Amino acid sequence: PSIPHKLVVANWKMHGNLARNQVLIKEYLQALNPLAQTKVVVCVPYPYLAQIQILLANTGVAWGAQNLAKFEQGAHTGEVSAEMLKDFGAQYVIIGHSERSTAYCESDENIAEKFMMAKRHGLTPILCVGETLLEREAGVMTRVVGKQLETIIRLFGAGAFAESIVSYEPIWAIGTGLAASAEQAVAMHQFIRDTVAAADSAAASTLKILYGGSVNPQNAVQLLNQKEIDGALVGRCSLDAEQFIKICQAVP
Ligand code: PEP
Repeated sequence: PSIPHKLVVANWKMHGNLARNQVLIKEYLQALNPLAQTKVVVCVPYPYLAQIQILLANTGVAWGAQNLAKFEQGAHTGEVSAEMLKDFGAQYVIIGHSERSTAYCESDENIAEKFMMAKRHGLTPILCVGETLLEREAGVMTRVVGKQLETIIRLFGAGAFAESIVSYEPIWAIGTGLAASAEQAVAMHQFIRDTVAAADSAAASTLKILYGGSVNPQNAVQLLNQKEIDGALVGRCSLDAEQFIKICQAVP
């Protein structure tokens, strides 16, 4: 199925337990069911995929994981494959989140391979790109984001971006309470689309570009009303049903 017009993705990160997840999803659904048009995706830690598959079955809310292996299968202790995610009905997978690339030194090449692995298995990749505060202050943010995109284009061709998702996540905005302004986000979203379009305009036209980084109910309205912003990736506020629902309701 093609990706909805605008979507809001919850990234639970390494939070939750069986009891709390059940309550949180119940609270989400109480408000989200009548909002069937708001497309919502919940990305959970691996152990909760089985639980989420049951809780979200036939609700219109989709689910996914926060990482996957770049390998198909085999002797890769501790890794989780695309096929395994599919087994639990996952449709989406976050790739290259900065919390992972920083902590585990994931290279752009590694991230590109994971992106293609998701595509090959029919999972929609949510590729995170973004610059550090130092890089923004030095004015090299488009060079940094450009390199992240170019790695995929060089290795696999820009066609890989068709029906995919890129999330612009300035590292200085993640978990800091300091979101990018709508102006800063729009400028980068335009750059991302232009970069893909320069290599493959058809692919760029079906690419969704989300914004992530301290999205909250207050800033969501302005961010989500920009035509260049196709949705949001939400960390902290996705753990609080009331705040998450308000963000979903900000989708025009
Ligand atoms: C994220 O996890 O991708 C994120 C954007 O987190 P937060 O909303 O907490 O900044």
